[in-house]
Amino acid sequence: MDDEDSFISFNLICPECGVGNPEGAEYCLVCGRDLQETILFMEDDPFDLEVTRDFLIEYRKNFWGTRRTGKIERYSWDKIEDVQFGYPVKRFIFNYEDRRVVLPLREENMQMMKRLFKEYEHQ
Ligand SMILES: [Zn+2]
Repeated sequence: MDDEDSFISFNLICPECGVGNPEGAEYCLVCGRDLQETILFMEDDPFDLEVTRDFLIEYRKNFWGTRRTGKIERYSWDKIEDVQFGYPVKRFIFNYEDRRVVLPLREENMQMMKRLFKEYEHQ
């Protein structure tokens, strides 16, 4: 018989190395990265997105979307303005320091971003 208490789900994905960590983990089991800042982590095709209290962080992947290129874009939340969600093509669009940023998102990630913004609005 299975002991249900011993079942741990590894849902918290480390933005640094991509390994799944147990919910509530403070540091990544593999690379030791601080995970306490991470509110949300989304894997998408051309990039991975990390949401922290202060930043939206984009980890670019290569052209085929298979590996990270090492290029990281950090967007400070308080400089992100005029947010829009594209439809029917799923895109997350915003103004940032005099430029328009367009991030194509998978359906499920788009929903998560929308939910996130609703929560911020109600604070
Ligand atoms: Zn890690």
